[in-house]
Amino acid sequence: MQQIDGYTRLCGLIGNPVEHTMSPMIHNTLARKEGRNLVYVPFHVEHGQVQKAVEGAYALNVLGLNVTVPYKGEVIGCLTDTDAMAGRIGAVNTLVRTDGGYKGYNTDMMGLYRALCSEEIRLEGEEIILLGAGGAARAVAFLCASKKAARVYLLNRTLDKAKQVAEEVNCAYAYECVIPMQMEAYATIPSDKKYLAIQATSVGLYPNVEEAVITDSAFYEKIHTGFDLIYKPAETKFMALVREKGGQAFHGLKMLLYQGVIAYELWNDTEVSEEDALAVYGKMKAEMGIRD
Ligand code: NAP
Repeated sequence: MQQIDGYTRLCGLIGNPVEHTMSPMIHNTLARKEGRNLVYVPFHVEHGQVQKAVEGAYALNVLGLNVTVPYKGEVIGCLTDTDAMAGRIGAVNTLVRTDGGYKGYNTDMMGLYRALCSEEIRLEGEEIILLGAGGAARAVAFLCASKKAARVYLLNRTLDKAKQVAEEVNCAYAYECVIPMQMEAYATIPSDKKYLAIQATSVGLYPNVEEAVITDSAFYEKIHTGFDLIYKPAETKFMALVREKGGQAFHGLKMLLYQGVIAYELWNDTEVSEEDALAVYGKMKAEMGIRD
């Protein structure tokens, strides 16, 4: 049990709900491993109370906060500064204490990049299929363009949302990186190449574990690597379909790990060793009942 004294620093998570979060495990484990006098707790914040929560946290000398659903957009209006990429994405999940207020970052996106790198998955120069155009997919589209992906076919059920994301990303990076498409049009993606497919819809999330946003096995013949942002279940239907056609497939738990690790690094101005990060990952996998 961590000793709490007059020097203990506080970090936390604001959201609604927050009760099922794994973030306290990530941060409290890292703090204990590093011998840092820091504790991390979840704060359930009611709708309409975000501004007060952020101001109150600052007044209480809270070192940093994570922000989860549904406040990642709304919180931007409560900050004194926002990292340029997080501002473009329009979503902040990490607040870092600075003089006069908090600065907002998007470590979800940086976490995904670190997770991809740890699996030796490249974005640079890649042909990518991105499924979804919600909050997470939007961040992935910006990430892909920032890493100079060759092309991103952005497929979504609601075409207008895909078009909106494509327009913003292509404008921000000044090249025609993202091609918006209706989900059903997947068969028109050229089949003379193999693709990295990033699954960023909520289809297949527990308890709907038998669902995938595309079920046609012919689609999966085009995929060399599938990365699903979902981590519950640890093998989604999408991942199973990728593997059936010989591709390699990954779930989103490492993305969750690294978004936390990067937030911890920002708060404490430190670099977490890969050994410590993987020790936390081991605990997360045990919590999720994942054996691999
Ligand atoms: P969101 O903003 O609600 O977006 C949901 C997306 O799923 C939209 O593109 C939506 O399409 C699509 N969708 C939902 N139901 C569908 C259906 N029945 N058929 C076809 N498309 C459907 O959610 P989000 O925040 O982007 O999150 C997406 C997923 O990423 C979630 O499963 C979440 O758990 C996961 N995630 C994981 C991490 C991590 O750390 N691993 C971090 C963030 C998110 P429309 O636009 O047509 O509605």
